Amino acid sequence: MLTDARHATLPPVLAEVALPRRLEGLKALASNMWWTWYPDSPEIFKRIDNTLWIETYHNPVKFLRQVKRKTLNAAVHNRAVLSLYDRTLAAFEAYLARADTWYAATHPDRADHFIAYFSTEFGLHESFPTYAGGLGILSGDHAKEASDLGLPFVGVGFLYNQGYFSQHITEDGWQEAGYRRYSFEDVPVIPFTDEQGQPLIISVDLPGRALHARVWRIQVGRIPLILLDSDIEQNAPADRDLTARVYGGDLDTRISQEIILGIGGVRALRALNIQPKVWHMNEGHSAFLALERMREHIAAGLSLDEAEARVRAATVFTTHTPVPAGNEEFPDWLIDRYFNQYWGQLGLDRERFIDLARHAQSWGQTFSMSMLAIRMSHARNGVSELHGRVSRAMWQFLFPNTAVEQVPIRAITNGVHTATWLARRMRSLYDRYLGPNWMDNLDDPSTWQPIYAAPDDELWGARRHLKRKLAAFARERARVQWLTTRRHPVQIVAGGVLLDPYMLTLGFARRFATYKRGSLILRDPERLMRLVNDVERPVQIIFAGKAHPMDEPGKLIIQQVYRTLKKAEYGGRIVFLEDYDINLARYLVQGVDVWLNNPRRPLEASGTSGMKAALNGVLNFSVLDGWWQEGFNGENGWAIGDEAEFTNADEQDARDAASLYDTLENQIVPLFYEDGAAEPPAGWLKMMKNSIATLAPAFSTRRMVKQYVEEVYLDAEPVATAP
Ligand SMILES: *Cc1c(COP(=O)(O)O)cnc(C)c1O
Repeated sequence: MLTDARHATLPPVLAEVALPRRLEGLKALASNMWWTWYPDSPEIFKRIDNTLWIETYHNPVKFLRQVKRKTLNAAVHNRAVLSLYDRTLAAFEAYLARADTWYAATHPDRADHFIAYFSTEFGLHESFPTYAGGLGILSGDHAKEASDLGLPFVGVGFLYNQGYFSQHITEDGWQEAGYRRYSFEDVPVIPFTDEQGQPLIISVDLPGRALHARVWRIQVGRIPLILLDSDIEQNAPADRDLTARVYGGDLDTRISQEIILGIGGVRALRALNIQPKVWHMNEGHSAFLALERMREHIAAGLSLDEAEARVRAATVFTTHTPVPAGNEEFPDWLIDRYFNQYWGQLGLDRERFIDLARHAQSWGQTFSMSMLAIRMSHARNGVSELHGRVSRAMWQFLFPNTAVEQVPIRAITNGVHTATWLARRMRSLYDRYLGPNWMDNLDDPSTWQPIYAAPDDELWGARRHLKRKLAAFARERARVQWLTTRRHPVQIVAGGVLLDPYMLTLGFARRFATYKRGSLILRDPERLMRLVNDVERPVQIIFAGKAHPMDEPGKLIIQQVYRTLKKAEYGGRIVFLEDYDINLARYLVQGVDVWLNNPRRPLEASGTSGMKAALNGVLNFSVLDGWWQEGFNGENGWAIGDEAEFTNADEQDARDAASLYDTLENQIVPLFYEDGAAEPPAGWLKMMKNSIATLAPAFSTRRMVKQYVEEVYLDAEPVATAP
């Protein structure tokens, strides 16, 4: 059935492609996102036709549709290609066939305990643009790990036909957003069909009309993602764009998207006869799913109280937002417009319906998606220890007479999918020193102890290799832009052509939102100039990241960074790489020396990019916020500032900037250059090993998803399937 990947059919466009028999298996490989986390698979495509692999932006479906027959015929005689191919296909088949997964071994009696995981974004790979940023990467990594561990699991989200915007920075540092429509024939999605062989369509009610959505599947290892798309003929033209963009448009678009995801997502699962035991709402955007399940129970004859109790018993909510204003809220007039036909079906009147999520704000009353999610779930969690604390305080008012420590919101700290984010070169080093089965036990700290015995030279050699790759990547991108578009020379310098892969390199890549303080390191220009221009021990800084298209202050921070780096006085050693996405993220988290993060504490819920960096031997230099508050141990990286709490933001910024410069000048730079000693710098390597050994096992989705299973998913009370 649907959840058995071995029975997956190919996407229609791939079924039509003719390949030499010897390489026929590439179609199956391209049809399952598993290829993205098996390091040999991209190598196959690279070796067949590297130019086409780059042109298609690492998209195997496009690649197979475009590659020349002559090229394939040559590949059939290329021993290197064939051996990579045979090894990869064997690993792929073994992966899908494996019966002794962690879940099967640990919970043999819970094989049908299905988990449905709802998220507005899934970041799986740069060739599949269904994500905007961190939340999407987390969902994608969660799904990949659920597959690795063998969970009965299905993801529910959107098939956007534009995705998120691509970023261009003008010569004056202003961010411009571009949207590109892409074809579903270029991605390995498969439409579901109904009994008549027609495309499966579900519908939801929007004001004055029905909205129809097609239901698609993409396979992620063993598990499917169910994706909804409104771009079909049955819909009015404007409605066809509702699922075009991640978080697109105005309030009407947002609430319509959330109705499609929450209500439509439940209907899609029912149409596919998937009956989850656990409903996981990843962030409040999908909280309407609880209403739809209540409606089902009530239609089946339960009382409102019973229905609510059943829904709650099977629902899990993960919150990601420590900023009260960041929690999604809709005005009452909008709820009236979208739900006035719906509340009657729950046996509720308007007031009692709005009571489900009523948030009395100083500016008036709103309908809060996070409050709906908290009310409708029995297990709730923040995404780091500190964020759990912040969330308990933030939502304490919902639990009268409960001490703040007793507020029922726990913490499950985020992680990253190790195989996805680990550089191939580092992986082969770990294969040599951590033993042949290290991937099976990667969340066990003892697995990583042998890293201390790895020779410094080898580790340093791998790091240098990755730094050269990053510099070459930036240079080639800048060169192509110079060649193909009329860029100003300043933009070419900003693109990183003057980077030196042997110098101490800091990376700062994240969304440009004011609380992340992207320009903190620019606070003292003189001091910064001395750091980057030091003749003996220079520092380079690479920036990347998008600002939300409506976030003017965020765009101004990008401009501030850009106007600084344009100055010749900084010698081309501060750069801004455009269009941060999964591809650029991979180069950065693998290819810098130090990963910088300086949010205004405690506003970073977790952060995950620093975990990716640590896994690859990059050292973290961060404010003690989010995951770093629990990851930092004094010997595995550096802290910016301390745990002091501030009421005055400017004072906080001044203190943190001073701490940042002091640590950079007095600790980081001297440790890296080790006062002229021969490379590799022993103190740096020691810290790198501490960082890998302590952070890689703890901040992996391996640990995280197991924790969700043990503490949350299996704890859901069994309920009769509805309706
Ligand atoms: C990992 C990642 C993020 C999230 O990282 P943060 O540490 O939360 O900023 C965002 N965007 C991309 C492309 C990523 O790879």
